[in-house]
Amino acid sequence: MGMGLALDIGGTKIAAALVADDGQLSERQQIVTPRGDAAQLAAALETLVSPFRQRVDFIAVASTGIINHGRLTALNPANLGGLADFPLQECIRSVADLPCVLLNDGQAAAWAEYQALNGECDNALFVTVSTGVGGGIVWNKKLLVGQHGLAGHIGHTSSDPQGPLCGCGRRGCAEGIASGTAIGAATQEWEQPVNAAQVFEMARAGHTPAENIVQRSATSIASLLADMHITLDLDIAILGGSVGLAEGYLQRVKFAQRALPPLYRLPVQAACHRQDSGLLGAAMWARASL
Ligand SMILES: [Zn+2]
Repeated sequence: MGMGLALDIGGTKIAAALVADDGQLSERQQIVTPRGDAAQLAAALETLVSPFRQRVDFIAVASTGIINHGRLTALNPANLGGLADFPLQECIRSVADLPCVLLNDGQAAAWAEYQALNGECDNALFVTVSTGVGGGIVWNKKLLVGQHGLAGHIGHTSSDPQGPLCGCGRRGCAEGIASGTAIGAATQEWEQPVNAAQVFEMARAGHTPAENIVQRSATSIASLLADMHITLDLDIAILGGSVGLAEGYLQRVKFAQRALPPLYRLPVQAACHRQDSGLLGAAMWARASL
C-alpha cells in the first residue's frame, strides 16, 4: 500500500503524520481543533492534508465521535465545538482524491495497542482519558466497530446515576466525572478555577482538594474497567490519553482497584504508543481493509 497519511481528530488537537509500511511515523504535526462550525473544521483538515496529497497512497483517519458511513457525529457535541454532524469522508475526498478509511479514535488506538501485545492475549480493552473518555474493544482478536460505529464508547457508560448531566444528554456518564474536561470543571467552585493540567500539578504538590478530584476520576475509571471486565471477561486493559498517561494517574487507577473484590481487578498498563496510538491504529486498519 506504500505510504499513508494518518490523521487523529481529537477534541483538543488534530494530529497528522506519514505512516510507512513498517509503522514508522514521520513529519508529525499538530494543530488546535477549531472550536467553531463545520467550515472551520473543513478548513483545518484541508491545511493538514493538502501538502501531502501528492506523496501518499491512502488516508487513514481516527476521529473522536461516532463514525458511521463516512459521517462524523459527535456523541458529546461539546467535545467538538458544537459539531453535531460532519461529512468527514466527503471533506477529505474533496481535498485529496485517495482511498480513505475512517475509524473512531478509541477503536483505532485499541487496534494499534492490541497489535503491540504481539498475540499475548485475545481480549483487550483500550481506554483513553483525555478531553473526553473513549475506548475500543478487541474481542476474540477482532476489533469491535459495531454496526453503527458505536462499539467501545465506554465513556458514556454510567458512573453515577445522580452525577452531572453529560454533553451526550445522559446523566452521570464516566466522561462527565473522569475526563480532563470534568477535572477542570470540578474546580469551578474554587476562587480561581484551573484546568486539568494545573489540577494534576497541584495534586502532585500535595493540594488535597486537587488530589481528591484526580482520585475521583481514577476511581471512576477503575469502576469502568471492572464493569467491562465482568461483562466481557477481558485479559487486559490499556490506558491512554493525556490524562490517562499523566504522571501518577495509572497508579491511582490501580489504587482504586484495590478497593474492589479481586475478580474485578482487570490488569491495566499504559499505552505503549503513547499519544500516537490513534494515528498508528488508523493506518494499520486502513492497510488491512483497503
Ligand atoms: Zn455521556
